[in-house]
Amino acid sequence: MAYLPTDIVACPDCDLLERIPPLPPGGTARCARCGRALAAGKPGSIDRTTALAAAALIVFLLANAEPLMELSAAGRETTTTILGGVREMWRQGERASSVLVALFAVAAPGLHIGFTLAVLLAARRPPAPRWVGDMLRWAEVYGLWSMVEVMMLGILVSLVKIASLAAVTPGAGLYAVGALVFLLAAMSASFDPREVWPRVRWRNGAGQPPSFPEAAGAAGGER
Ligand SMILES: [Zn+2]
Repeated sequence: MAYLPTDIVACPDCDLLERIPPLPPGGTARCARCGRALAAGKPGSIDRTTALAAAALIVFLLANAEPLMELSAAGRETTTTILGGVREMWRQGERASSVLVALFAVAAPGLHIGFTLAVLLAARRPPAPRWVGDMLRWAEVYGLWSMVEVMMLGILVSLVKIASLAAVTPGAGLYAVGALVFLLAAMSASFDPREVWPRVRWRNGAGQPPSFPEAAGAAGGER
């Protein structure tokens, strides 16, 4: 398997290998052949994303600990959390749904936030340990399967439907889920893995990346 120096990327559209020059803040590097945007200058991406990920972790814990809503009907009151809902669905025989909610609304976003935060904290002091590379890939996989916004829509639809049957009071957990949707989107928008990769220690020794003589055309930088 070939290791490429980290400033060389293959264009995802036309496969041309290009060297990315240092980009000015807000600048974009485009493929010299097909014009696809390859990289954008996002200065301070690690600091900003660390702050967003820390906020997302706090909000994620709140979303799981606090009740989503409080229902009162015929003099009886009840509250439920996300995991309480999962347990209740399992108890009522909706096993597939309960497993789906547990995996995609609790486990995947939790692992995505946790792994991203671990990667960012470890990358602050280069060279970052080698596990950071593996963890970064897993963070991206869990990010793909994190579906908090789908759950948020589901909760809102059920809120509207129940509202005619019982008095519904949104709980702190519901506001936390709403905030989590925004924080996860902001995290993805501000995160630039290209700032992390150069800090990860190379597998074949802690020193310099192996040389790669066939470095092709330089990508054109533009604002
Ligand atoms: Zn291209």
